Amino acid sequence: MQQCQQILVEWLAQMGLTLHSEKTRITHTLHPHAGKVGFDFLGFTVRQFPAGKHHTAHNAYGTPLGFKTLIQPSQTSIQRHQQKLKQILQRHQASTQSQLIDALNPVIIGWSNYFSTGVSSHAYQGLDNWLYLQLKNWATHRHPRKSQHWVAQRYWLIDRGEGWRFAASTPEGIQRLARHSHTAIQRHVKVQGQRSVFDADWIYWSTRMGRHPQVNQRVARLLKRQQGKCAVCHLFFKDRDLLEIDHFIPRAQGGKDEINNLQLLHRHCHDVKSANDSR
Ligand SMILES: [Zn+2]
Repeated sequence: MQQCQQILVEWLAQMGLTLHSEKTRITHTLHPHAGKVGFDFLGFTVRQFPAGKHHTAHNAYGTPLGFKTLIQPSQTSIQRHQQKLKQILQRHQASTQSQLIDALNPVIIGWSNYFSTGVSSHAYQGLDNWLYLQLKNWATHRHPRKSQHWVAQRYWLIDRGEGWRFAASTPEGIQRLARHSHTAIQRHVKVQGQRSVFDADWIYWSTRMGRHPQVNQRVARLLKRQQGKCAVCHLFFKDRDLLEIDHFIPRAQGGKDEINNLQLLHRHCHDVKSANDSR
């Protein structure tokens, strides 16, 4: 393996690059090397596991390799995430349950979404179990004289088929704590980042699909045609921008009210164009 490193060093040198000696580590992704297996990258651990004939990966010729590659959240990432959740719990010792859930949910959802492209369900389950114990401490700490049963009734409810959920009743309805394990694992992410058709970013979805349930059909078609960019300033529209449909040839000058004569502009860009049109 030292030979591998030497080859790599020479190859990089041709391009004027060197290996960072402190950051370079030789590792093996299947068998322990110097007490370690695999490597961590962007919060994931990449390593291989021995696998039988049904689970093994195959090489390009279809020959079984006897192992498979798994990309999982690294131990460091999990510990850092737990640390963050713990800090939130400490900061919210005197808050309402609803405030605590508000603080925890974005962290749980954000972390789970980040790792949803890897083999993460085992880690998710572990984190949910761990968090349950932390919440139990949080809740019993607030009511030292009450029974476990009372505390459970006060802070948890039973969802059908879901078991116990940490949930608060608020004027807007029941507010549940998010679960890591509710994040679907997406092995092949085809859409940008963590988008869902149900999120509020209608510009992204209209641009991608040319339609969106909540967007005027003409706006959606124009967004797709203009690839999400304003026809005047050529900047991407953002979620909160005010958009207006403009007649390329103004109606006053005989322009038709047809899709081919329409373009989508920022409101402020439209104002500038209208002023110029009427000059
Ligand atoms: Zn613009």
